[in-house]
Amino acid sequence: MSVNERQTPMHAPMAQFPVSDGELVVGGIPLTRLAGRVGQTPFYAYDRKLLADRVTQLRAAMPASIKLHYAMKANPMPALVCHMAGLVDGIDVASGGELKIALDSGTNPRDISFAGPGKSRKELRQAVAAGILINVESFREVAELADIQQDANGSAGHKARVAARVNPDFELKSSGMKMGGGPKQFGVDAEQVPELLAEIGRAGLTFEGFHLFAGSQNLKAEAIVEAQCKSFDLALRLAQAAPSPVRFLNLGGGFGIPYFPGEAHLDLGPIGANLATLAERANRELPEAELVIELGRYLVGEAGIYVAEVLDRKVSRGQVFLVTNGGLHHHLSASGNFGQVIRKNHPVVVGNKMGCEPHENASVVGALCTPLDLLADRMDLAVAQAGDLIVIYQSGAYGYTASPQAFLGHAACIEILV
Ligand SMILES: *Cc1c(COP(=O)(O)O)cnc(C)c1O
Repeated sequence: MSVNERQTPMHAPMAQFPVSDGELVVGGIPLTRLAGRVGQTPFYAYDRKLLADRVTQLRAAMPASIKLHYAMKANPMPALVCHMAGLVDGIDVASGGELKIALDSGTNPRDISFAGPGKSRKELRQAVAAGILINVESFREVAELADIQQDANGSAGHKARVAARVNPDFELKSSGMKMGGGPKQFGVDAEQVPELLAEIGRAGLTFEGFHLFAGSQNLKAEAIVEAQCKSFDLALRLAQAAPSPVRFLNLGGGFGIPYFPGEAHLDLGPIGANLATLAERANRELPEAELVIELGRYLVGEAGIYVAEVLDRKVSRGQVFLVTNGGLHHHLSASGNFGQVIRKNHPVVVGNKMGCEPHENASVVGALCTPLDLLADRMDLAVAQAGDLIVIYQSGAYGYTASPQAFLGHAACIEILV
């Protein structure tokens, strides 16, 4: 097929998984054998070595003093969190449920932090008892924590360790999802933070630092550098009103991965260089502070695939439809319904026919009775039949747990770490 006949532009080829004898190889195992080992399709598979390699590459680009945290909401599979716990310096959780998994992973509670706009009293109690760092996001949380601390009679081990989550007065430009700047439900507006700090001091909570998280899924190094510089400067100003020295300064993350045609990998060079400059400034200007970045998607997204099996091949008025046993109930994001404004195809291949000819223009759909259940819209794919395995790349983050599995009552999906 000539380029002109393609209905949609091409993705850059995904190179993280090797191919052997026409099959994608995940965790050293060819795809059809892996499917046999799982015993069913659909499934998600995450590759341990790719996860470790990603952390190694990132550390090589960053100054050694920067602490790297894994924001586990991107992928909270317990086995994966345990694997990540051995690679990173801390885990960021966003619920009591995630806290349990992080603690089970053996991560030192000192290195676990908890963010989220709606922390319940129960969750705050658990967090205090566990001894983790709580990123407080409202005056209500400070008051609750003061109560919780008092109930425990201030006994050792029941001190509330807090950082102030700041809603900055700037945005992370070119982000897939903005989570700071302007009116937001996250954190406390920078203008009100001095008052929050005073309240933290009066309440006798243990102040440890600041948390700023401006946005997610960003592929522009300059935008990330700018947000990190502004975050540092803002924290420096706010530190003047802090009840005690800053020990942690969490500069957020937002590093993106390429999903769509025309997108390229994030250039870590300028980000690492800027963090080196900020680390030197921190040595002088916030001498007790550790600089932290927290990343979810960037650490795990490219190490995972989603695999569904072709059930049926239909031709409707000239258009080929590969009907699979998977769908948006397992992978909402690939269907374009998880925050995307315009639906675009994630990278999709026939994983047991890699490099095989002939190709054709085909759409991949799920088993759900809704037109939203579209996993690939008119893509160039190897000609597939029932039994072939459709693979969606870039599925290690915001896949399994970010999808409405109960919708339509189909069987659950399985996750494996290989
Ligand atoms: C969601 C979230 C993250 C992770 O974002 P990614 O884009 O997956 O890296 C990190 N920190 C906070 C506070 C979050 O809410």
